[in-house]
Amino acid sequence: MPRPILATIDTEAMSHNLRTVIGRLRQDAPGSVPFVWAVIKARGYGHGIEAALEGFSEADGLAMLDLEEAVRCRELGWTGPLLLLEGFFEPDDLDTLVRYRIGAAVHCDEQLDMLATSPVARQVDVFVKLNTGMHRLGFQPDEFRAAYDRALVLQAGGVLGQLGAMTHFARADDDPDVTLAQIECFRRVTDGLSGPVSLCNSAATLTPGLASGIAGDTQWVRPGICLYGASPFADRSADSFGLRPAMTLSAQLIGVHRVPAGESVGYGHAFRAPHEMRVGIVACGYADGYPRHAATGTPVTVAGVNTRLVGRVSMDMLAVDLDPVPEASVGAPVVLWGAGGPSVDEVAAACGTIGYELLTAVTSRVPRRIL
Ligand code: PLP
Repeated sequence: MPRPILATIDTEAMSHNLRTVIGRLRQDAPGSVPFVWAVIKARGYGHGIEAALEGFSEADGLAMLDLEEAVRCRELGWTGPLLLLEGFFEPDDLDTLVRYRIGAAVHCDEQLDMLATSPVARQVDVFVKLNTGMHRLGFQPDEFRAAYDRALVLQAGGVLGQLGAMTHFARADDDPDVTLAQIECFRRVTDGLSGPVSLCNSAATLTPGLASGIAGDTQWVRPGICLYGASPFADRSADSFGLRPAMTLSAQLIGVHRVPAGESVGYGHAFRAPHEMRVGIVACGYADGYPRHAATGTPVTVAGVNTRLVGRVSMDMLAVDLDPVPEASVGAPVVLWGAGGPSVDEVAAACGTIGYELLTAVTSRVPRRIL
């Protein structure tokens, strides 16, 4: 018998979320709905590339980080556009880009050099990245036009295929003014250029009027987290957008016992029973990806009843308060997050982190079941 822990991946929820996002964009600007890159980096935000391909089969394109993930998409039969969000890292990568028709963000001169000197680069689709204020990747506003001009020369020589411009937002989840300033910078620097543009992550895509206010020949939005049914906003739930959780992390009680008043539970005796109480031990720990820093009070659902984690999370187990579920015994179902339990965002908020981190941290020893 395997350990009773499972990550269930609901590809129907993923398709539903994609349709929900497209529906919102359509409502915003009927007639000029942007194309959608479904972002599937980090193995589809921890859901698996196979599940992502199934769930996002209606996306216009897929965007990821690793060349290996992009190749896997082709091997699994994806025929649409693919975009490497950080581009490529060595000249040898270009062979694979050409062979598998993989597009790339280009954010530095070194990447343009590799394209310019490559004997194999042919018709590579490229988005030149502009740093509009995040200061992570991208050409500075005063360097961008020179980089773009180099790319135009490469395009004229057949090295590049389609050529576009992109940027990434730093605070689309919490500061619209910063986002508007970034858009203004993008507009100013790319004024007069033709070709596709790509700016919006989940938070921007879900903000009414934002994507529809961005001019360009063709716009591609790049939502990630919302497609997996988690919210990019700290103060707004995924549910309030009509999104459904794509991953449910579930386990079972493998032990139940009575803790006398004043006795303590787990490593460090971090939780002390204020009165005699029943405590359940769940087959899920930090080696499964559950956050070790989750503290007493983090929400969890046992046999359909909301309760809380107590004490410190250990490598393979955690403890829960069974007082609200007096009938729960060994084998009772536990939902750590997802359908029938707390949302991943609620668990993340209780741990001082974000849903992104929890979803991508579920480890390979947790079996996945794809619905
Ligand atoms: N675009 C880029 C360049 C990213 O790095 C990411 C993820 O961080 C996304 C889009 C998707 O972001 P989100 O998951 O917040 O929608």
